Amino acid sequence: MRFVSTRGGSAASFSEAVFIGLAPDGGLFVPRRLPEIDTHACGTRMFAHTAQAVLSPFLQKDALLPYLPDIVAQSFDFSAPLKALPGENDHVLELFHGPTAAFKDFGARFLAHAMAAHGQHVAPEARTTTILVATSGDTGSAVAAAFHDKPSVRVAILFPKGRVSQRQAHQLGCFGGNIAAYQVAGSFDDCQSLVKQAFMDQALRVACRLGSANSISLGRLLPQMAYYAHVAARYYLDHGQAMNFIVPTGNLGNAFAAFLAKESGLPIGEIVLATNANAVLPDFLQSGRFVPRPSVATLANAMDVGNPSNVERLAWLYPSAEDRRAKMRAHSVNDATIRARIQEGFSKYGRVWCPHTACAVDALEGLRAAGDRRPWCVVATAHPAKFAETVEPLLGREVEIPPSLAAMLARPAVFSDLPNKYEMLRAELLAHQ
Ligand SMILES: *Cc1c(COP(=O)(O)O)cnc(C)c1O
Repeated sequence: MRFVSTRGGSAASFSEAVFIGLAPDGGLFVPRRLPEIDTHACGTRMFAHTAQAVLSPFLQKDALLPYLPDIVAQSFDFSAPLKALPGENDHVLELFHGPTAAFKDFGARFLAHAMAAHGQHVAPEARTTTILVATSGDTGSAVAAAFHDKPSVRVAILFPKGRVSQRQAHQLGCFGGNIAAYQVAGSFDDCQSLVKQAFMDQALRVACRLGSANSISLGRLLPQMAYYAHVAARYYLDHGQAMNFIVPTGNLGNAFAAFLAKESGLPIGEIVLATNANAVLPDFLQSGRFVPRPSVATLANAMDVGNPSNVERLAWLYPSAEDRRAKMRAHSVNDATIRARIQEGFSKYGRVWCPHTACAVDALEGLRAAGDRRPWCVVATAHPAKFAETVEPLLGREVEIPPSLAAMLARPAVFSDLPNKYEMLRAELLAHQ
């Protein structure tokens, strides 16, 4: 399988595209054509088998293909259960059972194990890679956990100071070793812009052998297809109906994987994008014009994105505005509604929602109120314990902490401060070469 840029050129294999990150013409890598994925092959009980069936067409003729079974087995050693909710035909897909308690563990772990397999089997002579990543909260810790103590890799994480939850910050700083966490005096968009400047700086790119792990990386994007494929195939084989998904959305990496799975032939119905008050995507769908704007801080901080990078892939997959409107809806939720949905989550569903998942729950309730009877699945992107300072006062009680998160919180956390200035980041990266 070859991957091309959303802007036209640059054919590359999967491994090449993973190491290049952004295509040389500034576009994002997309498959030249989508494979036809077999629903039966994805409907097995074992999630790892589904992941194998979904990913192997994309790795055809790639140097990593022989190692795919191992990469998949090592990456997905935790569960992604689909649970029924009390309402008829309501479901939740829990994507927070990985080491850092958010869905980003799926992509980050696959990427880390793929890169490690590449270093071990394909290019053993390669120098140390520096993974540079900007995070709005959960990406950084998933990437840090996935790459911690891996040979020949170091990781530099940029996060917006004061704009992530206390536990998210603690997770970012708790690793040490080959992981460095920088708190930037700015927003997530500032962090992302610093990272972009670093990748455009050819001299730095070569000197540090920069590698990318942000949500534009194919190595994170494609494995996310696996949980949509697994749920949709199993539901279809058991009930003869397509599952519909509501995805909490920021940079559009998670939801885009759902569209890829759908367009690769899996029985997926409608996909709803649930955003917080950063309503760029709902506005884009409505007007047909993509107008990025500065992000505003919300309770669902991992979705505080004003310029979602994967819009470029969405526009590649569905070029016309009518097409996009036919394939998806987008729904924006303000903080007051997030609070209300968390507060009533326990009595209505017997569940504690994280603020991101609460946005999707609000979309579900809107659909049900409008008389929609189809099977819907809310995608739960993080464990509520990561957002204790928001969730606990609303519920008036403590939220139990999953063991892997508790272990991270028990370690000391260390950060460095970084001004929002590219020269400072550059000097820092070169100094720690
Ligand atoms: C990253 C994140 C999102 C947004 O996912 P995108 O792929 O950026 O759209 C939603 N919820 C949580 C908990 C996240 O960490």
